[in-house]
Amino acid sequence: MTFRQAQRQLDCARRLYNIPLWSEGYFDINQLGHAVATPNESTSIDLMEVADQLQQRGLSFPVLVRFPQILRARVRELCQAFKNAAHKGVDQVKHIPFYPIKVNQQRTVIETIITGSEQDIGLEVGSKTELLVALGLLSQNNGLLICNGYKDRAYIRIALHAQRMGIKVFIVVENLSELLLIKAESEALRVAPVLGVRIRLASVAAGNWQNSGGRHAKFGLNTGDVLALMKTLQTWRKPAWLKMLHFHMGSQISSLSDFSQGLQEGLCVYAALDKRGFALEYLDVGGGLAIDYSSQQDASYFSRSYTVQDYAEAVVDNINLFCRQNNLDRPIVCTENGRAMTAHHAMLMTDILAVDSQSDSLEPAKTVSIADAELQKLSVQVRRSLAHLNALSEAEINTLEQALHAKFLINKVSLEERAWIESLIHEYKIALVKNRPFDDNIGSDKYYCNFSVFQSMPDVWGLGQIFPVMPLARLNEVPRRQARLHDLTCDSDGQICQYALDGGVKDNLYLHAVEAGQAYILGFFLLGAYQEVLGDMHNLFGDTHAVNVEQTRQGLLLTEIEVGDCADELLNSVHLAGRQIIAACNRRLAETALTGVHKNDIINEIKDALFGYTYPDSIDRPGHRIKS
Ligand code: PLP
Repeated sequence: MTFRQAQRQLDCARRLYNIPLWSEGYFDINQLGHAVATPNESTSIDLMEVADQLQQRGLSFPVLVRFPQILRARVRELCQAFKNAAHKGVDQVKHIPFYPIKVNQQRTVIETIITGSEQDIGLEVGSKTELLVALGLLSQNNGLLICNGYKDRAYIRIALHAQRMGIKVFIVVENLSELLLIKAESEALRVAPVLGVRIRLASVAAGNWQNSGGRHAKFGLNTGDVLALMKTLQTWRKPAWLKMLHFHMGSQISSLSDFSQGLQEGLCVYAALDKRGFALEYLDVGGGLAIDYSSQQDASYFSRSYTVQDYAEAVVDNINLFCRQNNLDRPIVCTENGRAMTAHHAMLMTDILAVDSQSDSLEPAKTVSIADAELQKLSVQVRRSLAHLNALSEAEINTLEQALHAKFLINKVSLEERAWIESLIHEYKIALVKNRPFDDNIGSDKYYCNFSVFQSMPDVWGLGQIFPVMPLARLNEVPRRQARLHDLTCDSDGQICQYALDGGVKDNLYLHAVEAGQAYILGFFLLGAYQEVLGDMHNLFGDTHAVNVEQTRQGLLLTEIEVGDCADELLNSVHLAGRQIIAACNRRLAETALTGVHKNDIINEIKDALFGYTYPDSIDRPGHRIKS
């Protein structure tokens, strides 16, 4: 292959897997045909090298790989977009990004974000436990905190204590009943609270999370409640407590015009409060900045029709215009974009355990003569059309399959006849696949992957979300197999049915043929937001191994290695202790005639499984325990 042909092949792979569309420049392919992470222009991390190092360290697949350099780059990108937008206008709008930790509460993720930019990044928490997380980590910057979510007395008191510790805390009133509690506790602790109020917008952003906005929204005060809140604060002579107005329209807002409409509504409420003597200083416009998971670059649910810069400009320009028109001081704008900060920084690497190929030849069935006239006619057609492909339509093949099945059920077809016709149909399908390899209408090979959809990408199962997937090597080779990815769980939902591919969304993925025993590693991308914490333990597959990977002058640096769950930990979560299982087995063994040595061997093997990885070990080392 000439250099030019090789480059052309790499470009084809980039286009096939839509890399330029979803990666935002953070992933690419190198000259070896390996996928690479590219946190910045001068850094390229070969993902096959990462895979090798993981194996050398004894970490078998699946492994969640985090790239802190990408995380920092995303934080800086967001901050810079607002700086650019502010510099464009005559009036400067100050911006404070808050990271909503619900999106990914991993300590290393939060630490990287709050130290990732010269600018102060605050944290947003939505529960008492998340508040404790923030308390543990906020000392690393100047300490800015937004407290959202349902609040009981303890939550409010800890938020007030945080303020006493020097953290700037906004307690956001999400419903009126919280207000009385806040007053009581702030008086008890002699701390004047800094309040925000979350409003329920009538504006709705289309998408999976549209119920975060609109009148059916779960959180926030409606107009009547806002009036009641104002009245209460005025009666208490505490209007100065209220400093922030907040709304959140939902996650993954794919159309910027939806967002701008909500912002306009929020600004109108802001102006109304200002007019009534509430000197607000902050406008928190929530999260929602979307990611182009599906590479469609439009307003469909898993895509988006705007850039980060467009978003920042929409926020800043709308605020500037509104404030100028209404003679208002510009508020400090706060954002709570979690998905956009974190999605790109994490991916899952895993291997293919087996392939069930539709073009593998079946053991040819013995030719038999078919007694049933209709079936005989149909099967003759199939045999003839094997010589002249496309002579038979998909529908005709389906008719034959259905007739065969129906007649078998009423005993009109023998087992031998059924086997013969099935092998004819199979042969025909193989010929069809060879002729039209990338036709979505012609089934696909089943690639069994070493992971659980429910644990590692629950939004595939829950929302039908699309995540980019591609092989980490052989990207300089044309993939000739049409594939459907299946996970390890015993559940038909444990598969991926939609792929970002070839400029759009397809029902099948294109992969390379995999010989038995050959390693073939896939990468699942954009998993940094929501997937880790929402993942569940279906079939008792637990947390995967996880690692931070950075490129340094000295080479690849693997840090924060977290060994995944072992079976014993999963059993604890269903309130069964490993020692109970050992005791039960010992009781049974005591009643057998096995020798003491054999009994010991059996118990040891059970212990290996209890303290081993919950996923099949891709490195061949029987009895390997990941935990002791
Ligand atoms: N703020 C609030 C109040 C939320 O409920 C959410 C999540 O939906 C976010 C911020 C984060 O949204 P996103 O990750 O889409 O930016």
